[in-house]
Order: sequence, then C-alpha cells, then structure tokens
Amino acid sequence: MPLQPARTVEELRELQELTGDENGAQRVAWTETWERAREWLRGKLASVPVEEEIDAAGNQWFTLRGGSDRALLIGGHIDSVPNGGWLDGCLNVMAGVEVLRRLAEEGEPAVTVRLVNWADEEGARFGRSLCGSSAAAGSMTDQDELRERRDADGVALPVALAEYGVHLDRAVEARSQLENAAAYLELHIEQGPVLESLDLPLGVVLGTFGVERHLVTWKGQAAHAGSTPMDARRDALAGAAKLALELRHIAERAGGGAVCTSGGVVCRPGIVTSVVETAEQLLDQRHLDANTLAAMLADAKECSERFAAEESIDVSFDKIWSIEPILFHPELIELCDEAILEVTPTSHRLPSGPLHDAAEISRAGIPTVMLFVQSLRGLSHTRLEDTKDEHLELAVQALDRLTSKTLVWVS
Ligand SMILES: [Zn+2]
Repeated sequence: MPLQPARTVEELRELQELTGDENGAQRVAWTETWERAREWLRGKLASVPVEEEIDAAGNQWFTLRGGSDRALLIGGHIDSVPNGGWLDGCLNVMAGVEVLRRLAEEGEPAVTVRLVNWADEEGARFGRSLCGSSAAAGSMTDQDELRERRDADGVALPVALAEYGVHLDRAVEARSQLENAAAYLELHIEQGPVLESLDLPLGVVLGTFGVERHLVTWKGQAAHAGSTPMDARRDALAGAAKLALELRHIAERAGGGAVCTSGGVVCRPGIVTSVVETAEQLLDQRHLDANTLAAMLADAKECSERFAAEESIDVSFDKIWSIEPILFHPELIELCDEAILEVTPTSHRLPSGPLHDAAEISRAGIPTVMLFVQSLRGLSHTRLEDTKDEHLELAVQALDRLTSKTLVWVS
C-alpha cells in the first residue's frame, strides 16, 4: 500500500476528538488523557510489524527491524500544552506512523527504523521542557532540582512520574536508546509566520536559536513625584525604557533573523507618587550564530551602560539561562531540501526560534534535521493553531521522501 497522507490528517482529527475539548488539545504529559493518547497510538501501529518499548524516561518507541542494528529515528511528541493545538507534536508522530506503514509494506528496510514519541516535550505540568529527549540525550543533569518541583495542585514531580513507571534517578538509562542511532528526523509545524508570509508550505530548519536570558537591574533613587524637579531625578525606569526601545536596533544591527525581547519590567516602589528606584527588566536574545549572539549581548550591555550614564543611574546584568545555538547536520539539510523540492516547487531554509526535541538529539551528536510545515497566522499553543490539509499532506510526503533519502545516506 503506498503512502496515504490524507490518512494522517484524518487520524489527527480523530486524536483531537479523543483527547481534546472545545478549548483545544488536553494531552498534558503525565495525565490520564496523555496515557489515552499513547494507548491510541499503540493501537494505530498494532497491525504494523513493530516492537513497542517504553524506556526509563517514559519515551514510547516503535521499532521496525531492518537489515542492520543501525537505526534511523523519526521523532515527535504526543503531549500538548493545556488548551493546545491539534498539530503541535502529534503531527510529527502521526506522519512517522504513516512512513512506518509504508516502509513495513515494502519489507525489511536496509537499517532499523524507529519512531519515538518523546515524553513531556512541553513541560506543561512541571515547567521542565524536553524532559524525555534530554534524558535520552544524556543532558538531563537537573534531577535534584526536578525532585523539588510540584504541579499547580502541589503534586511532586517524582510522584507523578512514578505513576507512569518513570523513576527520576533511572531516567537517564534512556541514553541506551541512542546507542545505534545513525540519524534523527523531525517534522513540526513552524509555530511562526515566516513560511506563510512567503506563501510556501515547507521549509528546512537550519538549527535552533541560541538563547541569552538576563535579568537587567536598574537602580536609581526613589523621590517624591511632586517635589522632585525633572532634571534632578534618577529614574530607574528611564533606563529600562530606553533599553526596551533600543532592542529593535540591536536586533537590526545583528541581522540574520536576530530577535530581542524585553518580556517584563518590575518597578519598585511601584507607587504613583514616587520616581522608580529599582527596575528589574527581563531580557531574551536569540540568534542562530554563536558569535552574533555574543555580540548582541555585548551591544545590549554597552547601550545599557550609556543609558545608565545619561540617566545617572546604575545597571547590572545577571544571567538567568542560556543555551548555545544548535546547528543541524549540513548533509541532512541538503537531503531535506531535495525531499521538499520533490513534492513542491520551492524550498526555504529557516532557523527555529523555539527549541525542539531535535535540538537535544543533535546536541548528543546524532546527525539531525527538521522539516517545518507552514502554520496559519503563525499561531501555536492555542486551539486556533492550524495548517491547511493540503499542506499537512505535503509535509507527510516530504517526511517520507526525506526518510528514504536518509536510509540511503546511513546505509
Ligand atoms: Zn512541539
């Protein structure tokens, strides 16, 4: 039986019917609804000659044995955020199901092909994203911190995971799953507006942005709003305001798709009758090139020093979190381009702003590439998330072509 991309669209609707409601998808990891989705997925592959295994981190693997133990991995995540969309994560899994069906029909593939449904990509319940993939990649080093995490109802993370057979101290045993991995492929909705603005259905992902997150603290002097003349003020908010607007120019100077965001400012004393003494400003900067990202941060610090001098206030930067850019494999990027061009006239290369499981696997040294399909209005993590049916079908076809090309590449 040849590939049936329309079946993937039907199955995604079926999954939404089964695990969503009028507010959207409700497949939050480590919940009954998530378990129902995993069970449903198991049923979808019951007639395909694959072996199922749930690893120590809760990742669900379906293995189609091939002529060699070397394995080509196709990944996705069936978990969603609360009130999520009908495509984020599960499109990748269900397209992988369709590719597995096609391969199984054709007999034993040259190498083993494995579909993985990563556990808890979204981190919706406990605030820790990429949970299962980081355990498999060997980059999960925050177990002590995870042990302390609780959900909104006060349930501790280890208790919730244990209900699904996952024990934190053993989760990293999932590393053995990547031992024979020769390549990793992931299809995902873009979750941004770029492909739609170019009127293109598909794009090759070059890698995921590096991120620099800082808390910028501005310190001035609280003073009476009525008695302090304008030229005698040391207003901490003025520094934060200047930086917030300068971010546009910092991103422009960096180029190459740079993005900078000031996601919040907390002012103290924060009353209507006082000049702001302290402004705590959140800063997020992202770029695909590590040197450019470092230059963007240096630019932000330099500008901040200048604004602080202009306003007679002080400024300091404290790192909240950072991650280096993760570049996908150059030869797989070429293959992905070819695959897209076999199903549609134009391809496009773009970076990913959000992180994905693919970033963890790439970081672990497995040759990786991602394929994006257009998101309508760039919306995701909402029930309004959508992609045209014909584009979803093209995406399944492109993933199938990419799989065939990668099978040759790894053999
Ligand atoms: Zn996702």
